[in-house]
Amino acid sequence: MPPEPLTAFTPQQLAERYASLGMTLPLARKLLSCALRHGVWPTGDTTVSARWLTRVSRELYLPELSLADRQVSPSDGFAKYLFAAPDGVRFEAVLIPVVHRTGDRKSIVCVSSQAGCAMGCAFCATGRLGFTRDLAPWEIVAQAAQIRREAPDPVRGVVFMGMGEPLLNYESVIQAARVFSDPSGLAISAKAITLSTAGIVPAIRRLTREGHAFRLIVSLTSAEPAKRRALMPVENAYPSNDLRAALTDYHTATGRRVTLAWTMISGFNTGEEDARQLAAWVGDLPVQIDLIDVNDATGRFIPPGDAERNAFRDALRTHLAAPVIRRYSGGKDIHAACGMLATHLPAAPRANG
Ligand code: SF4
Repeated sequence: MPPEPLTAFTPQQLAERYASLGMTLPLARKLLSCALRHGVWPTGDTTVSARWLTRVSRELYLPELSLADRQVSPSDGFAKYLFAAPDGVRFEAVLIPVVHRTGDRKSIVCVSSQAGCAMGCAFCATGRLGFTRDLAPWEIVAQAAQIRREAPDPVRGVVFMGMGEPLLNYESVIQAARVFSDPSGLAISAKAITLSTAGIVPAIRRLTREGHAFRLIVSLTSAEPAKRRALMPVENAYPSNDLRAALTDYHTATGRRVTLAWTMISGFNTGEEDARQLAAWVGDLPVQIDLIDVNDATGRFIPPGDAERNAFRDALRTHLAAPVIRRYSGGKDIHAACGMLATHLPAAPRANG
């Protein structure tokens, strides 16, 4: 059997899978934390012999992505990374700097789950690329691990909001999320790992059955089926009524509030009637609404101005007893914002190094 990528596994999985090699849980933890935190294979010392490491290296290898480019936004510090897999397939990840009111600083990494995307959301540059392939667990893990090694602040969260529909690459995404949350992996709290979906109903039901602690965000964008269909073809496969039923079951099973993302498009889904329809769709389901300005480099869709945005937020607050949060989607100048990842490189200042 060819060697397998070390960073595709949790320590428990490594210890079970390679028990015949003498892989104990402490040894598996050591291998994984060296690989993910420092990008190296450990050297022999008093706890692990060089001979054993040589034997293990015939079965497991340390995979790395090539960094094809990196751009840092001079305006808000968002950084976009263009990675290339060993087969040449390219995909992007984004480092999001977060500064709390207290002055504490941390980073969140937005990772891709697929190269390209088959979902075809009208407002999204990745959707226009089409689908190339699913990413393997190690390719998802490596994005955050490699960025973490050079991040100026500690990485405390991972969001699956890069290229691709995470719930169409379910097993790899869940496996990568397990490695992210493992204490010897990136030690990120499961609650700080967010899966984002356009609304793949069977996968939401699977998530509910399996009971993972990861957060879920569902992109709704309109509660009126015809309008939603015009922007998000997923409505044809999984109508929003079925989505609503799956989210009710998700809430009943997990007790968690469901976050609904709403990509705001001026003159399209930011009116009083849109707010009313959303309130009717939500009913008694506990939700949070995340409002995100559309980012469409083609200029076909434009974000609302302040007056339109504030009026929509007020309408939501009138019709819906739910928290409404405006999400800042940064890195627009380097095409790193939500909906802009398309593996092309606009002219922008390069980071040093
Ligand atoms: S918004 Fe997400 S699901 Fe829709 S096309 Fe873009 S990457 Fe795919």
